[in-house]
Amino acid sequence: MDEELHHFGPYEDAMSAGSWSMAHCVLSPYLNLGLLLPGEVCDAVEEKYRSDDIPLNSAEGFIRQVIGWREYVWGLYWLWPDHIDLNELDNRRQLPPAFTGDATTDMHCLAETLDGLRQRAWVHHIPRLMILSNISNLYGIHPRRVMDWMMSNYIDGAEWVMVPNVMGMGLWADGGRMATKPYVSGGAYINRMSDYCGDCRYDPKKRVGHDACPFTTLYWDFLARHEDCLEGNHRMARPLANMNRLSDLDAVRQRAETVIRGLREGRI
Ligand SMILES: Cc1cc2nc3c(=O)[nH]c(=O)nc-3n(C[C@H](O)[C@H](O)[C@H](O)COP(=O)(O)OP(=O)(O)OC[C@H]3O[C@@H](n4cnc5c(N)ncnc54)[C@H](O)[C@@H]3O)c2cc1C
Ligand code: SF4
Repeated sequence: MDEELHHFGPYEDAMSAGSWSMAHCVLSPYLNLGLLLPGEVCDAVEEKYRSDDIPLNSAEGFIRQVIGWREYVWGLYWLWPDHIDLNELDNRRQLPPAFTGDATTDMHCLAETLDGLRQRAWVHHIPRLMILSNISNLYGIHPRRVMDWMMSNYIDGAEWVMVPNVMGMGLWADGGRMATKPYVSGGAYINRMSDYCGDCRYDPKKRVGHDACPFTTLYWDFLARHEDCLEGNHRMARPLANMNRLSDLDAVRQRAETVIRGLREGRI
């Protein structure tokens, strides 16, 4: 609370190769084991906010994570017993070898995230969502395989917290019960939210060519692949319209096949 809470609000959604915790508290293992209670940490943060110069977005942002997310997903886990088995996008692929440690990857954002996970069994919520879940969905890994892999790699993994976060929030395997649209993005979002792209061999702005960012190529391919499933979703109307306006969509989809093969064979 003395060193990080101040920065939580402004930086909680950022990713940097220079800071693995990025103002996050790393208390989830203690909370999930019952060594700390949710009310206890919320009270401590509120007290700190009232007695110290903590910005409102840091104090409120933190308390919202606990009350608004942790307690919320606990409720959803018991509300939806079938959530664990859903696979709305019909994803079927195996984990790529980069996930299992059988290959390295040139994708700087993914390499940093996997390295952090191997070192500490923990990365914060944006790499979980916008790097690991994002690439899992864009590449098309079976949701249950993603969840089982996360469960065995995260220090704070437990079924009640994994099912809503992974099946609902991360992979949209429930077709929008929890999150109104899939959290997928191309390299532009990752470039905006991190300092990874500057040191990457790929270019986040490119969708075709040997140096095209795999996130960017696969993002457009994902929209084309799932157009039928997503077209009734009003939050996807603009991305789908943008995808349909791409003059090089055929070339993008061809490049996507190469990217998928490269990921499968551990060459990307
Ligand atoms: C795909 C995916 C998988 C996840 N898997 C897990 C998991 O297995 N176990 C787990 O505890 N959290 C999980 N989360 C939620 C969140 O990423 C972690 O709780 C958080 O990164 C833990 O770090 P922290 O303690 O520094 O959290 P902070 O960001 O500092 O937040 C403070 C506390 O809020 C709670 N919290 C915040 N977001 C969530 C959330 N979405 N769900 C539940 N609690 C939340 C946690 O108790 C956390 O300790 C997952 C999120 C995503 C997107
Ligand atoms: S260019 Fe693409 S693969 Fe490389 S760091 Fe940026 S988002 Fe990740």
